[in-house]
Amino acid sequence: MHDAYPKYEYARITDITLQDLRMMGAKAVAVDLDNTTVLDSTMHAPGGVKEWLRDVRAAGFPVIIISNTYTIRAWWLSKKFGKLPWISMADKPHTSAFFKAAKMLNVDVSEIAMIGDRLFTDVMGANKAGAISVKVEPFEPEKLFAEKFRKERKKEREYLEKRRKERNAENHSFIRNASRKK
Ligand SMILES: [Mg+2]
Repeated sequence: MHDAYPKYEYARITDITLQDLRMMGAKAVAVDLDNTTVLDSTMHAPGGVKEWLRDVRAAGFPVIIISNTYTIRAWWLSKKFGKLPWISMADKPHTSAFFKAAKMLNVDVSEIAMIGDRLFTDVMGANKAGAISVKVEPFEPEKLFAEKFRKERKKEREYLEKRRKERNAENHSFIRNASRKK
């Protein structure tokens, strides 16, 4: 299985500073939709997200949506967020969307910080493509398919715990992990 261990972890997308993005070596930002920029299965962006996206773009980082959601929803949210370029039905963790995004934004895929809440789609896809994987905590428990997601979240937690233990055993430092978990 490909590595689903995030390079960086934050509680919320809005916790990531411009300085953090520069420190990661990012030149562009890709964002997931559900539970990263909008509440799950809604069109609602929690406070600060829209402004964060605006500030990041104003600072010179192109931003693109990479989402597994259907096209019309991605299109609508891209408009809401100030006409962001977008890739819908991205089929993460498959990597083609990441390479397509790099082409669209005219950066190397290794310069894209992919920000998302899911280990086995956002993080794994970013790692496979050679992008910078940044994991955020989901906003809230998913309303739809609650049981399915509960199981998947459990799998994610177990995976992270296992990997953290392995890394401790290898005496790896966590310097590169800019965790701002609250
Ligand atoms: Mg998500």
